[in-house]
Amino acid sequence: MSKKGILTVISGFSGAGKGTLVKELVERHGYKLSVSATTRSPRPGEEHGREYFFLTREEFESMIEENQFFEWAEYVGNYYGTPKAYVEEQLRLGNHVILEIEIQGALKVKEQCPEALLLFVTPPSAAVLKERLVKRGTETMETIQKRLFRGAEEAAYIKDYDYIIVNDDLGTCVEETNSIIINETNRTIRRQDFIRELLEGFKEFQEGE
Ligand code: 5GP
Repeated sequence: MSKKGILTVISGFSGAGKGTLVKELVERHGYKLSVSATTRSPRPGEEHGREYFFLTREEFESMIEENQFFEWAEYVGNYYGTPKAYVEEQLRLGNHVILEIEIQGALKVKEQCPEALLLFVTPPSAAVLKERLVKRGTETMETIQKRLFRGAEEAAYIKDYDYIIVNDDLGTCVEETNSIIINETNRTIRRQDFIRELLEGFKEFQEGE
């Protein structure tokens, strides 16, 4: 029997490199990335349907009412949500799906779908995070302070995740993450259909005696 795909949720501090990690997992290992919907405006270079589905608040709220989201959350004044249809279809086809979402959404997914795998990406230390944000040079010192403040709040929830992924060297981090996901697919809780089929097969031996 073919394995059902695994749903992996990846969250992490802003500046932890989770975007690059996810991109590599898709390109190197064929994971399917769910494209979220959001009410925030597109950043330069972002395309509707590629980075996000950019919606108005009215459009987003009607999707909430129609129960079209797998999870959704409000984050820094905007809505973000995972459309249900794509995730369910890909899992049914046996593909491994990744959601790159923030903490509130991740915890909602776990509640709704206990077999989901939650990974939290972090740099080796708080000091390295600050250094990376400063070096990147794309934000003002004030924004960096805000992100670090938010990081301190987020750190309290790491314990609710299944694994912590330390992103020191990107290549190592990608392979380590892939191994964790592959190993998790063989947990007995995720192979219930296979176990059932195996037991059925053994029953035939008993009946034949
Ligand atoms: P950004 O605006 O920088 O693209 O994303 C802000 C935050 O929203 C990030 O932490 C990102 O992971 C999170 N996010 C993106 N899509 C979703 C989603 O569908 N649901 C939730 N809960 N968070 C999301």
